[in-house]
Amino acid sequence: MDNPKLQILGETDIRRRLPSVDSVLRASPRITEQWGNTRVSAEVRAELGRLRNSIGNDKDISVDSIIYNVEQNLNAADDSTLKQVINLTGTVLHTNLGRAVLPQQAIDAITKVASMPTNLEYDLSTGGRGERDEHVEALICELIGTEAATIVNNNAAALLLVLNTLAENGEIPVSRGELVEIGGSFRVPDIMQRSGCTLVEVGTTNRTHLKDYQQAINPRTALLMKVHTSNYEIQGFTKAVSERELAALAKSEGLPFVVDLGSGNLTDFSVYGLPKEAITGSAIQNGADVVTFSGDKLLGGPQSGIIAGRKDLIERIRDNPLKRALRPDKITLAALSEVLKLYRHPETLAQELPTLRFLTRDVADIEKQALRLAPVLAKNLPKEYQVVAMACLSQIGSGALPIQNIPSFGLTITSTTDAQLRALSNGFRALPCPVIGRISDKKLQLDLRCLDCESLFIEQSCKLTELLA
Ligand SMILES: *Cc1c(COP(=O)(O)O)cnc(C)c1O
Repeated sequence: MDNPKLQILGETDIRRRLPSVDSVLRASPRITEQWGNTRVSAEVRAELGRLRNSIGNDKDISVDSIIYNVEQNLNAADDSTLKQVINLTGTVLHTNLGRAVLPQQAIDAITKVASMPTNLEYDLSTGGRGERDEHVEALICELIGTEAATIVNNNAAALLLVLNTLAENGEIPVSRGELVEIGGSFRVPDIMQRSGCTLVEVGTTNRTHLKDYQQAINPRTALLMKVHTSNYEIQGFTKAVSERELAALAKSEGLPFVVDLGSGNLTDFSVYGLPKEAITGSAIQNGADVVTFSGDKLLGGPQSGIIAGRKDLIERIRDNPLKRALRPDKITLAALSEVLKLYRHPETLAQELPTLRFLTRDVADIEKQALRLAPVLAKNLPKEYQVVAMACLSQIGSGALPIQNIPSFGLTITSTTDAQLRALSNGFRALPCPVIGRISDKKLQLDLRCLDCESLFIEQSCKLTELLA
């Protein structure tokens, strides 16, 4: 290769010996039948181009080899980038893994509305135009005790729409303890600015008093607001103004009181043995005029943002032209409606709703599963990996109850070197159905809390042997 003349000769050589596009196509009726002549010809041409440009004579340029590569490339191009994965991270509502898994009822409803036209915005009694919110509004009002509700694409959109409608060009005093950033670039101050409002910071990070709000109120003040501090908790010498106190102040000043709840939970989770968290309905009882929350956090539904509260305010919010840009589609509304209906039946909720089923799984049951799976996984891994069933802690995720972990059980894998552990973690992610765990403290931890497809996990771990070889 050091001699440039030889290299040039080599290239000319490969060009002369390459088969023609036609001869490859004639030899591959099977793949042209599957992908069609147009796509296969283009891919064959691209493959021949790559071979022509490759330096040296060591390339396999047989027709069989070219067909093999073409088929691989066509398969890879058709592979969806959006895949099912097995979430063994220990975070039940993992934002990067798509948050809540939907119940079967919601999946069936999605299939129905996706496969035929629906009365999404069509009033079947009059034959005139309908309102898409109506498919879920009554249910929300029934479950949390509000007069009205409207739905948007997510909770960030909900906040944007509420603030833009009720407070554009106005000021909003917010406690410094609530100016939160919720991962993935959602920051309360940024949303306020984009909504056209001016944020007025009051109090300090750890302590905010009612008088701080009182002093900030002036004729430009548009509303009072409380933001649920979702993903952190300030502990120690703290003071926050309660919803009740703020509601009373807002009322006396004639201002709307808005609460961004983040993770809206419709039931008391302590009933199911989970840590207690404020219920959405209680913010309304405490005097909130409007609340906003996510559909795919603790609620366990599709990605959506729910805005509920006083009828006159909800009507103004719904009439904002921005609503058109933020509205949910029929698939979201169909799924949300089915998820909300499950809440009418608290006795079966923990069975029917996957989010709650995962969160309430009996730790003894998870331990049994870990003891069952540890030897299965060990058998499929090279000798340098040790697998043990071990207690661990799950998190709810998505900012709900950030400091309360739930006892769980999992598979803990150790190895002699960090590189081997990373290779294993990469291997798990390269599976046809990737398995996502967590490396911490020189261990790969697979929390089994969310594993409800055990046979799929076993099937995937059998494929690991080959991947790691
Ligand atoms: C999660 C969260 C949001 C953003 O909700 P998305 O549905 O992710 O848009 C807003 N506010 C609070 C307090 C949150 O916890």
